[in-house]
Amino acid sequence: MENLYSLFQEFMDADRILLEEPMEKHTTFRIGGPADYVLQPASAEEVRKAVDVCRRHRIPWFIMGNGSNLLVSDQGYRGAVIQLYRNMSQADVDGCRIKAQAGASLAGLSKKAMEASLTGLEFAGGIPGTLGGAVTMNAGAYGGEMKDVLESVTALESSGQVISLRADQLEMGYRDSVVKRRQCIVLEAVMRLRPGDKEAIRESMQDLAQKRISKQPLEYPSAGSAFKRPKGHFAGKLIMDAGLKGCRVGDAQVAEKHCGFVINRGHATAADVAALMKHVQDEVMRQFQVKLEPEVKFLGDFPDTLL
Ligand SMILES: Cc1cc2nc3c(=O)[nH]c(=O)nc-3n(C[C@H](O)[C@H](O)[C@H](O)COP(=O)(O)OP(=O)(O)OC[C@H]3O[C@@H](n4cnc5c(N)ncnc54)[C@H](O)[C@@H]3O)c2cc1C
Repeated sequence: MENLYSLFQEFMDADRILLEEPMEKHTTFRIGGPADYVLQPASAEEVRKAVDVCRRHRIPWFIMGNGSNLLVSDQGYRGAVIQLYRNMSQADVDGCRIKAQAGASLAGLSKKAMEASLTGLEFAGGIPGTLGGAVTMNAGAYGGEMKDVLESVTALESSGQVISLRADQLEMGYRDSVVKRRQCIVLEAVMRLRPGDKEAIRESMQDLAQKRISKQPLEYPSAGSAFKRPKGHFAGKLIMDAGLKGCRVGDAQVAEKHCGFVINRGHATAADVAALMKHVQDEVMRQFQVKLEPEVKFLGDFPDTLL
């Protein structure tokens, strides 16, 4: 551990190398045991070097944005979490384009677009993730998706090479992209928007924010929709129709306000959430013969019997 610490310190300030860091502090679920390391790089070069050290020393590593789509095991993570949120969040407007680093928040980017009278990114205002996480997952809401606005992405390949991908090379589908399949790290992206009316954009963003407040259980920690939308169905409706509204395991609960969300009522553990999700999957399969696939990503060890 000590040896690795000094290797990381060769290119990263000590206050951005966290040891035995509780992941509950870094996930919107407010759940997760300690990661051996949380590294907070401030540049693409630091990301590259961090991955290189991990690779050479056979340390598992994981790229994280804002942890808003993540369930970390109660035992934490034996390896290095490389967290891009906060330190890599530079964003610049140039005409109709916004070029931003992967750690920039979607909320901040939508606001920046609005202030520059650019339309197209309103849908992302209430998604609590980073640009990198959103590109990888092709995040979307209210009829908009990242694929509609992306012009190009700069990414680090697992070979250590930095590549540039045009929109037509990103192969973005529902919560899917070539970046995800090839396990690349998004370093930055360029979004191309359209000129619009600032007030109309502001109103549309406020409208969407109101919709979220009225429909989603934002008063509780969660990771958003727990399951992907199965073809021809809505996960939340299937879960409600299965009679699982409000169903609990420990402090993990199927939200009463929106059955697609699993919420943390206070002291939920990752095991509680995983057990609840497994129960929901089993019941929906038993009653409707529909397989629910988790949208939430799992980090660390989870018993095979769950999910
Ligand atoms: C209240 C709430 C509402 C939500 N609403 C929506 C919604 O409307 N639409 C929607 O799509 N999602 C929604 N989400 C889920 C989540 O915000 C998105 O999936 C978001 O894009 C995840 O971004 P993140 O930075 O938090 O990623 P993380 O949770 O940190 O990571 C998620 C995955 O992305 C990968 N990843 C992160 N950054 C990078 C990178 N730079 N390069 C490569 N891989 C990376 C991680 O390795 C991981 O596999 C919601 C979540 C919450 C809590």
